[in-house]
Amino acid sequence: MAALLLWQMRTDAEHRSQLTANSLVQVLGRDIARNVELYDLSLLAVVEGFGRTDVAQASPELRRMILFDRAASAPGFAFLLLLDTNGVIASGSDHLVPKGLDRSDTEYFRHFAAHPNDDGLHISPPAISRVSGQRMIMLSRRLTNPDGSFAGVVVGGIKIDYLRSLFASVDAEHAGTVTLYGPKGIVLMREPFDQSAIGVSVADTPSYRRMIVMRDGSFVGPAMVGEGQRRFTFARIGTEPLTLSIALTPSTIYAEWWHRAIGLGMVLLSLCGVTAGLTWWLRRELGRREQAETKLLAANARLAAQATTDALTGLGNRRCFDETLAQEWERAVRGRRPLSLILIDADCFKGFNDTYGHQRGDEALRLIAGSIRAAANRASDTACRIGGEEFAVILPEIDLVGTEVVAERIRAAVMGWAMPHAAGPRAVLTVSCGVASAPEILARNAAALVAAADAALYVAKGTGRNQVRAAGKCEGTLRLVS
Ligand code: GH3
Ligand code: MG
Ligand code: MG
Repeated sequence: MAALLLWQMRTDAEHRSQLTANSLVQVLGRDIARNVELYDLSLLAVVEGFGRTDVAQASPELRRMILFDRAASAPGFAFLLLLDTNGVIASGSDHLVPKGLDRSDTEYFRHFAAHPNDDGLHISPPAISRVSGQRMIMLSRRLTNPDGSFAGVVVGGIKIDYLRSLFASVDAEHAGTVTLYGPKGIVLMREPFDQSAIGVSVADTPSYRRMIVMRDGSFVGPAMVGEGQRRFTFARIGTEPLTLSIALTPSTIYAEWWHRAIGLGMVLLSLCGVTAGLTWWLRRELGRREQAETKLLAANARLAAQATTDALTGLGNRRCFDETLAQEWERAVRGRRPLSLILIDADCFKGFNDTYGHQRGDEALRLIAGSIRAAANRASDTACRIGGEEFAVILPEIDLVGTEVVAERIRAAVMGWAMPHAAGPRAVLTVSCGVASAPEILARNAAALVAAADAALYVAKGTGRNQVRAAGKCEGTLRLVS
C-alpha cells in the first residue's frame, strides 16, 4: 500500500516536472523565435532595398537612411553591417561603424562566398564582434544586385548577454539545463552559463540526433555535455534551424519526491516500530499470564492431590475413598458392571503400639500400605487409608473371586514381611480382610457394600484374624444383604 502510494507520488513528480519543462520550452522558444524573426525582418528590409535600382542610384547617405530605415533597434540587437563582394564593410546602420574594414574571413562571409545562391537566413556560431567587442550570434543574409548577381552580405548580431538575461529568468535550479542549439548542433547559449560549452557542436551526440529527428517532444537519453542520463524536453524554434531544450537529471526530477518519500518512510517506520513494540509487549504480558496460570493450575492440582492424599502412607485418604466409591458405584450401576471392595484392618494394633511405640506403629502402617499398593496395582484400583489402622481398596470391574485373590495377596504380603508383633495372633504383623462384591451382594447403595465388607471383616476378626472373609460366604454377613 505504502509502496503503491510512493510509486504514485514518483509518477506525479515526473509528470509535474515534464509539464513544467514543456511550458518553459514553449514560452522561451516563442520569445526567441519572435526576436529572431524581428531581426530577420530588418535584414530582409535591407536585402529588399538593396535590390532596388532607385535605391542604388541614391546618394550614399540617403541610401543608408533608406536601407536601414527599418533596422530594429532593441537592447539585444547590435547594429547591421553591409559587406561588399570582397567582404569589406561598406556601410552600417550606425554612424560609428568603421567602414573599409576587411571582414572576408568571417564565418558568414565565407559561407555566402561559398554558397552565393543561398538566399536564406544564416545563423553563425557565437563569436566576439570586432566592432563592439561583445559576444554575439551573427544573423546574415545575401545581398543581391538588381541584376541578380552576388552583391555582398548584410549581417547583424544578437547579443549573447541578451539571451543570458532571457535564460536567467528561468529558475535553472529547478528547470535543469536550458540550451539553445544553432545549425550543426552548435551550442549558442546555455543556462547555467558555461563559457566553455558555448560554440561547441554536439551534432554527433546520440541525444542531439534524436532531438533533430523528433523536432519536438521529450525523451530520456545520455547527456550531451557531462555524464549520466537526462530527460530532454525540446522544441524547434519557429522556421529557423534553432532548437531549444531543457535537460533534467533524474536527481532534479525526483529531489522533492525523495524528500517526501523519506518523510513518509520515517512515519511508516515509526508506526511499524510502535506496532512491533506493542506486539512484543503484548506477547510478553500474555506469556507471563500464561505462565502464572500454569503455575496456578499446578498449585491447584497439588492442593487437590493433597486434599485427597493420606500424609503418612501416600495412599488416598478418607475423603478420596468416599468420593471414589460414590463415582464407581454410579458407573457400575449405569454400566451394570461388577464393583468390589476390600476392607483391611491391622490385627491387634493397639498391642503393637503399646509394645513397640507409636513411631514403629507408623512404620508398620506404611509397610501395610506398600503391600496394598503392590497387590492392587491396576490403574483403576483405588487404595485408601480410611481410619487409624484401617485401609480399603475399591476394585471396579472385578468379581468376588478376583477380589478374594487380591485380598489374599495383601494378607500374605503383610505377613511375609515377618515384622515382629508379640501381641499379634502369629507373633508377626498381620491383617484381616473383609471382601464384598456387587452384584454378588445385592447392595442398594455404596454404603450397603461397605457395610457388607465390614461385616465380613468382623467375621475375619472374630474367627482368629489374619484371614480373608467374603460377604455372603460366611455366617453373619448374609444378614446385612438385602
Ligand atoms: P483388632 O485386631 O480387633 O483390630 O484390634 P486392634 O487393637 O487393632 O483394634 P483397636 O481399634 O482397638 O485399636 C486400634 C489401634 O490402632 C489404636 C491405636 O493405638 C492404633 N492406631 C490408630 N491410628 C494410629 C496411627 O496413626 N499410628 C499408630 N502408630 N497407631 C495408630
Ligand atoms: Mg480398627
Ligand atoms: Mg485393628
